[in-house]
Amino acid sequence: MPASIKPLFEAVKKAALVGPWSQGTKLAREGAVLVDKTGDDAITVRVRIAAQGVAPTVQLYPADCEWACDCEGAADPCAHVAAAVVALQQAAAKGTQVASSEATFGKLRYRLSSRQAALVVERYIVRGEKEEVFNGSLVQSSAGLSPTHEDLAIDRLVTARRGGLIPLERVRELFEQLAAVEDVRLGSEKVQVRREAVGPRAYVADHGEGVVLVVDRDPRVVEAVAPGVVRLGNTLHPMSDVELTGVMLDRLPLKRAFAKSDLGQLVTHVLPEMEKRVAVEIRSRRLPRAKTGLKPRIAFDLSQKEHALSVTASLVYGDPPEALVQDGRLVQLAKHTPIRDEAMERTLLSRLREELHLIVGRRVDFDGGDAIRFAQKLLAWEGETGEARDRIFGKKKIVPRVHIEDDRFEVAFDLVVDDDNATDSERAAQSKRGADPYAVLRAWQEGLPLVPLFGGGWAPLPIDWLSKFGARVADLLAARRDDGKI
Ligand SMILES: [Zn+2]
Repeated sequence: MPASIKPLFEAVKKAALVGPWSQGTKLAREGAVLVDKTGDDAITVRVRIAAQGVAPTVQLYPADCEWACDCEGAADPCAHVAAAVVALQQAAAKGTQVASSEATFGKLRYRLSSRQAALVVERYIVRGEKEEVFNGSLVQSSAGLSPTHEDLAIDRLVTARRGGLIPLERVRELFEQLAAVEDVRLGSEKVQVRREAVGPRAYVADHGEGVVLVVDRDPRVVEAVAPGVVRLGNTLHPMSDVELTGVMLDRLPLKRAFAKSDLGQLVTHVLPEMEKRVAVEIRSRRLPRAKTGLKPRIAFDLSQKEHALSVTASLVYGDPPEALVQDGRLVQLAKHTPIRDEAMERTLLSRLREELHLIVGRRVDFDGGDAIRFAQKLLAWEGETGEARDRIFGKKKIVPRVHIEDDRFEVAFDLVVDDDNATDSERAAQSKRGADPYAVLRAWQEGLPLVPLFGGGWAPLPIDWLSKFGARVADLLAARRDDGKI
């Protein structure tokens, strides 16, 4: 049983200024007030004013003595609120009813459907049981309707295209307005329209040794009603990501598996792109965490055999490497995944090509002098603190030892390990090595910085000593016979 209108009438009258109150009384007398809807707590009233397109909507709450109007006028209560309470109070006093807007002028009904791969909005004028299709513009209409702000906003969207077709990118805008509309149908069924956008859901889950990324519709979605529109129970919602979902929705779920070695690629490339459009739920614990601050670099895998040098270059992040770039993709090596710096990667790769004539992932073998020349370039590439420097040369040096007795001449170059951490057995092993004196002099004469060692590897030439004695030693060696006598 609706509350009496009397206290609300008194409250409005008391609060109203003279102007709006008398204007409202006049509107009520002219029959401008029409009841839209009578609920338990609220009465919705429309106030039709000649020469004004929109009929303001007044909400009255008799039990709470509250009111609201959508006219956004300066006075509160406005003339429309005054008109509403006056009309209702007079009708109550006479024991009659205020005319309903539907019975008088008909009401707008919206019917949604899908045609030509688009959402279609059709409007009908409903009077009692009868409905009549309404085409054309509400603004220019003489049908006597009392359009709301929402009706007029929808009118602009619906009349923008022939046949009431709503393009995908306008669906959310339509739903903003449609959510305030009373009578919306899907076919013959009455439905509720909500503004809340519903998007597809994405998640990452364990799959074999790796993971799978799944993009699927929201499990609450019962049906895709039209492009850009889904149905959840009895409510219709716009879809949140038109680009991803509109036409593609029927192709969901999308599944993409990632092997263990591709998890870095997933974390640094695929997920950030996906998350721009859809929230991604991570259900797997296998994903590496992205780590910033790791720089790309070229790592060299060097192996020596006799005086040959095998080199394989690779593009890695971190030292020691935490990830490897292989065929353009990031392969995870450790717990963290770096954020790639592809500009720097490209710079490194082109330097590698130009300065060392290497490409990543391909092994190259160098022999003899070529190995030394390559090693020289590698040292220049790495600077003073490279791992190749340590790997190839360590802290080795060769020390000349000359022995002259009567007409016998001996020269040897012994290997000395200048490393405090070397064990005694390592020192003993190294002392048996050394370099062939002829090789030392040949390297020096060729201007090379290194000489091959017995048993493999190289050591820097003792340049200072050779610049003092090298020429003389070369002469003595040239004059020496096989038995050591000169
Ligand atoms: Zn008003």
